[in-house]
Amino acid sequence: MSFVDVLDLVVTNASTAFVDVTVFVGVALLVFGVINYKLEGRLVEYIAKRKAYQPVIGALLGLIPGCGGAILVMPLYVKKKVSFGTVIAALIATTGDSAFVLISEDIRVFLALSAISFVVAIVAGCLVDHFGIGKKHLGRGGVVGVKACGECGCRRSNLHIQHMGHEEGDEVDKILHCKAKHHQSVGTLGYKITHKGYLFYWSFLAVGLVFGIMNMMLVEFGDFWLNFVLYFGGIGTLVSVVLMIAGKKYFSDDTHEEVELKLGSFRETLVHNAEETAFVGVWIFVAFLVVGIGTSAFGADNLMMFSGLSAVFIASVLGIIPGCGIQIIFVSLYVKGLFPFAALLAHGISQDGDALFPLFAMNKKASFVATIITTIVALVVGVAWYFLF
Ligand SMILES: [Zn+2]
Ligand SMILES: [Zn+2]
Repeated sequence: MSFVDVLDLVVTNASTAFVDVTVFVGVALLVFGVINYKLEGRLVEYIAKRKAYQPVIGALLGLIPGCGGAILVMPLYVKKKVSFGTVIAALIATTGDSAFVLISEDIRVFLALSAISFVVAIVAGCLVDHFGIGKKHLGRGGVVGVKACGECGCRRSNLHIQHMGHEEGDEVDKILHCKAKHHQSVGTLGYKITHKGYLFYWSFLAVGLVFGIMNMMLVEFGDFWLNFVLYFGGIGTLVSVVLMIAGKKYFSDDTHEEVELKLGSFRETLVHNAEETAFVGVWIFVAFLVVGIGTSAFGADNLMMFSGLSAVFIASVLGIIPGCGIQIIFVSLYVKGLFPFAALLAHGISQDGDALFPLFAMNKKASFVATIITTIVALVVGVAWYFLF
């Protein structure tokens, strides 16, 4: 491949990723941003008060597209307000930000995957609680193996945070608002770009959405508009990269602190969901580029080598990687037809989005045990699905 070929591949895929997928991801993130603004907080309050049906609510929180719902379950476990089975249910049900890729690309597959993983999550969560799986290693939960900050001196004073499932100044506070990755510092250049540039990015997405819908409806563009959309989309992905760098979100995008901030402020929801759209968009572009390069290097037919049972194993193992980046690539490849549904199912069960990071920050043991359990469940369900259907 010559340099011009590569450049052509980059621009074309950057444009297609933005106009055909990212703009729709933006719509989904906006819609769920508004829904979550009210819903997540209520579910968390509900689950903390009730002992019965906890894995069911945990699975529901995990099912909410994005990582926020599952993230909010983690402090509750450390504060001993929910069972370990509830953590498992939330982690199994969540597909992190890759949910938005499926919603934009194939909503029927998204609904099918959600329904199946919801049932699997509840069953697995209840089994874990009933048989006390992992209890021997985990004891009674709480903060384990982590030194919290002595005081929250690094807290940015002008951010008003509405805490969910924990209180100001407690152990969770000293870890998730201080030691673990949290909201970027106010006043930095990155903060200014993400917190002032978000409306610009949303407007860019809105214009792209018009082209995206026209593309979907197979409207014929003349040469001028064809080129215009090509460059507009390319610039769209470029702006997404800038926003990603400004927000310093490369492999994961949601932190516990930001989820709390979003629940307390609609403006923060708009700011961080713009960041999240950019994050997802860049990873979709990477996935498209991988397929594009693979196709021109090996030919389209040779890319289908993961169609067998090995796909289920690869999917379950990939799911161990925390964060949403790699997981978005996997789901994008599924949409391109490179994997069977059994692999998507195993992957959805195995992967935890960004929710494992806060748990790891507070209780390393619990995050390891949870990963092992969700991977085993993914393998069992994935292989069973492969042979049954
Ligand atoms: Zn908090
Ligand atoms: Zn913010």
